[in-house]
Amino acid sequence: MSISFSQGKLRGEQRRNMVEAVQKQMQAAAIRAAGEVLMACLDTEVTVKLAREKGTPRQISDQPREIHWQCKNCGCNDANYFTRDGHYRRELKTGWGKIQKLQIPMLECQKCHHDVICDFEILEKHDRFWLDLDQDVLWSSGSSQSLREIAERWRATTGNTVGLRTINERISQIEPLAQKYHEQPIDDVPDVIQFDGIWMTIQEGNQTVRYDKRNRARHEKKGKRVVILVALGFWQDREKPEIVDWQIASGEGHREWEGFLNRLKTRGVRAEKGLQAVIRDGGGGLGQALGLVYGSTVVDQRCIFHEGQVPN
Ligand SMILES: [Zn+2]
Repeated sequence: MSISFSQGKLRGEQRRNMVEAVQKQMQAAAIRAAGEVLMACLDTEVTVKLAREKGTPRQISDQPREIHWQCKNCGCNDANYFTRDGHYRRELKTGWGKIQKLQIPMLECQKCHHDVICDFEILEKHDRFWLDLDQDVLWSSGSSQSLREIAERWRATTGNTVGLRTINERISQIEPLAQKYHEQPIDDVPDVIQFDGIWMTIQEGNQTVRYDKRNRARHEKKGKRVVILVALGFWQDREKPEIVDWQIASGEGHREWEGFLNRLKTRGVRAEKGLQAVIRDGGGGLGQALGLVYGSTVVDQRCIFHEGQVPN
């Protein structure tokens, strides 16, 4: 088994398609992650309001536990009489698009067996947060800095309601959850992979107003340069190449490439699984990283594709 290297660079329209495809994948992963986090937040809010975990029987006591949620039939607002009663589904608009099939917890009043009206703070009072979750947050990633900024700002406006701290912690999980997509094993290993770095400028502050240290609103015009490290896969029996994996990075040094290549190797992209050749741009730290990660498997330079079969 061996991997051969040849030179090539993604151009023009191919690069644009690549960025669009990455953006779509990113958005889908972000929506899924935001949905999971939001549902966890809703369950947390229920637990805080009822002061009992799921599965814990309710306490009947002489001391009513009055909350601002109310039975829509008898007007009872004593949480000791409320029990969890499944979920209903709705959708929610975010800066990334709609989260479909969001499961919203329901409560039942045990005095009269009607529904309790639950105004979830995270949905009603702070719906702005979900609209602020702009794609920039993920594009700027590497660190979940922007996400933390939004969460911080959010915390500043909401004060310290019980449970909000937990909710904030959960929100910080959106990015790691979205990144999980990059950890699944790759079974369908391509014959050839073309590596390239696509540089782009993210316009930060176009839709999102940022706040400086004195809490003045600032509309930043400055763009941030990032690079998408892309692994584009070619299969001998397929007409079109597909993106195997990608990573947003701050540069194209060998460290960035090495991290990306190691992840690919861990996910199963190896010579023994069918990888035969690597196409890459001449410069940058990619060559060095390829040597470090795939070094021992590169023993000959035979070309398995005829000229023209692999677009450059
Ligand atoms: Zn009732």
